[in-house]
Amino acid sequence: MGSNKQAADSLADQPKLVTKLPVYVGDLRQRLGEQRTEPVDVVLPTAVVVQSRTTSDPVVGEVLIESIERGVSVTGVVTFVWEADCRRCLEIVQRTQEVEIDEIFQVDAPGDSELIDFDGQQIDLLPVVRDAVVLSLPLAPLCGPGCEGPDPSRYPAEIEGQRVLVEKGPDPRWAALDGLQLGDD
Ligand SMILES: [Zn+2]
Repeated sequence: MGSNKQAADSLADQPKLVTKLPVYVGDLRQRLGEQRTEPVDVVLPTAVVVQSRTTSDPVVGEVLIESIERGVSVTGVVTFVWEADCRRCLEIVQRTQEVEIDEIFQVDAPGDSELIDFDGQQIDLLPVVRDAVVLSLPLAPLCGPGCEGPDPSRYPAEIEGQRVLVEKGPDPRWAALDGLQLGDD
């Protein structure tokens, strides 16, 4: 621990930070079952969830858009990179993760449903990709299954959420996390 890794990402590369990822689907909707794949390659604004955050690496993958009754379905897998402070030793952890996308856009979708309302012609993939990524961020990851933390004798390691050995309570610095709830803000 103690290495102060700087996220000095070069901005020389063209950032693909956008506020919309519009895809025209009017052509697909002329016939039920019509489908097309669309590449995803986008940089999301940084999102922070408890101890994890998205990075400036692009989210990449591919989705299949298929024409269905009154809308389109969007399914696929995207890969992104997250970064977090290990909950035991506070080292920075960085991992690549895949997340599934599975959404339905419907014309005049009711507001209380999980369907996404759209005008029948164009969908916006950005909120779909962003939500999938943010919801899959780990809340309190470890740098590795065997991380012993700053003081292993007092705070024994946990593996995959299972307390291996409990002698004292968890690190009081993390007690505040117990009361936290995920919100969309
Ligand atoms: Zn650690």
